[in-house]
Amino acid sequence: MVGFVESSDGDLALHVERLYFSYGEARFRLAIPSLSIASGSRVAVIGPSGSGKSTLFNLIMGLSPNFQGRVEVLGEDIYSKTEAERCHWRLQHVGFIPQNFALLDYLSVKEQAIMPSKFLGNADSKAANKKVDQLLERAGIAQMESSYPETLSQGERQRVAICRGLAHEPQLILADEPTGNLDPETQRTITTMIIDEATRLSATLLMITHDHSLLSTFDHVIDISQWSGKERQ
Ligand code: ADP
Ligand code: MG
Repeated sequence: MVGFVESSDGDLALHVERLYFSYGEARFRLAIPSLSIASGSRVAVIGPSGSGKSTLFNLIMGLSPNFQGRVEVLGEDIYSKTEAERCHWRLQHVGFIPQNFALLDYLSVKEQAIMPSKFLGNADSKAANKKVDQLLERAGIAQMESSYPETLSQGERQRVAICRGLAHEPQLILADEPTGNLDPETQRTITTMIIDEATRLSATLLMITHDHSLLSTFDHVIDISQWSGKERQ
């Protein structure tokens, strides 16, 4: 079935049925008849600029309540929760790696990476600190843990954003074009790192990418443009 990424044991990280979403007055629309993604899958999300990739991520993160249809994430009807509950759910279960890194100038590398744990109230624990230290080590930026973003290269900043997205051990990792603007070698290194960490955490990975040479490293590829378009006026 189109758009159905089947699971062997029945656990689904994402289940979408008859989804229809549009941005109010804007003409863009996203209509997904059915999409299921098995837990533990590594999925590349592709499609031209403006085809709705980030829009899909917002829906999955519980940030876009104005849609028709059904969206279940990690087995939960997240939109039946209150906004505050969704916010806490997102913090606990989702690791988001944004396109533009979204680092804070006044926090050091380690402080950025431990921020989600801080919001979850366990940043002072030995375990949380050890996890962050291990991630920074594996990302090759441990020696920069006290540095600030302005002194880092693009590739190093991207690694900080990846560590921050993974340090609280999310079950679902959403990476929005994490290798854009990086040279091909760094792109491959960073993609490999994200996939390795997803495997280590037994997490589901959805990664938006424009680099078709990386697609063979994923279990599935979803082209969002099959479901999106402009409303006729
Ligand atoms: P992609 O991530 O694939 O580049 P987006 O999901 O960001 O695409 O955007 C899909 C379409 O929706 C684009 O035409 C974009 O201009 C439009 N869009 C995105 N965000 C908004 C918004 N907040 N309000 C209105 N239109 C939006
Ligand atoms: Mg986008």
